[in-house]
Amino acid sequence: MISFKNVNKSYQVGDQEVQALSQANFTLEKGKLTIILGPSGSGESTLLNILGGMDRPTSGEINFEGDQIGQLTDRGLTSYRRQKVGFVFQFYNLIPSLTALENVAIAAQLNGNADQSAAYLEQVGLSHRLNNFPNQLSGGEMQRVSIARALAKQPQLLLCDEPTGALDSKTSLKIMALLQQAAQNPDTAVVMVTHNPTFEQYGDQVIRLKDGLIERIDANPTPVKLEGLA
Ligand code: ADP
Ligand code: MG
Repeated sequence: MISFKNVNKSYQVGDQEVQALSQANFTLEKGKLTIILGPSGSGESTLLNILGGMDRPTSGEINFEGDQIGQLTDRGLTSYRRQKVGFVFQFYNLIPSLTALENVAIAAQLNGNADQSAAYLEQVGLSHRLNNFPNQLSGGEMQRVSIARALAKQPQLLLCDEPTGALDSKTSLKIMALLQQAAQNPDTAVVMVTHNPTFEQYGDQVIRLKDGLIERIDANPTPVKLEGLA
């Protein structure tokens, strides 16, 4: 279980202080999909980056199964990111000179399971694209590679920052279905940031952010399942 307790993050911009996240409190559970919903600038990426150990809070507590993430040394934070967290970004962040298989293999190696790289791509429906380079793939396919790469780390936290932000609605639903599938793993908490309110029905939990504040948290006991769509 992962929790934020009174987490704040402010940035100093010139002589202005920007409060990007204020007194954030929530809990994430493994085997569940949490949707973080908010308009642009509401602090979604800030929250996700702190959760993933890419940034540090200004104050507050982040508890990852008993470890206080905010108090880790730089080295501790690096190993937290490396061992526990898989990231998926809006623009995929694949290495252009490497094939789909090689992009996944790099992450799989960190986990000592490079021989499983093709299996991870198969899991996201891309067994026919192993040897293609990113520029030979569609946006949806690139996002699948990026999800396979994140899953290859067998992450306890799968963090997705606007993973469908650059995709059409049909492709987006397929990516959403893959994230629901990833959340079926009882060892993985999946978090998806989006500006699109139509996605909230697919999450087990929805956190609504506005101006750095959590407005509401809703548990959704009956999320719409996209099974078979991925
Ligand atoms: P979202 O992802 O919801 O669009 P962000 O978390 O990126 O929002 O940003 C929240 C607020 O914090 C915005 O006002 C943004 O300008 C500010 N902000 C984010 N990162 C930085 C930074 N590194 N330096 C200064 N201000 C930042
Ligand atoms: Mg953002």
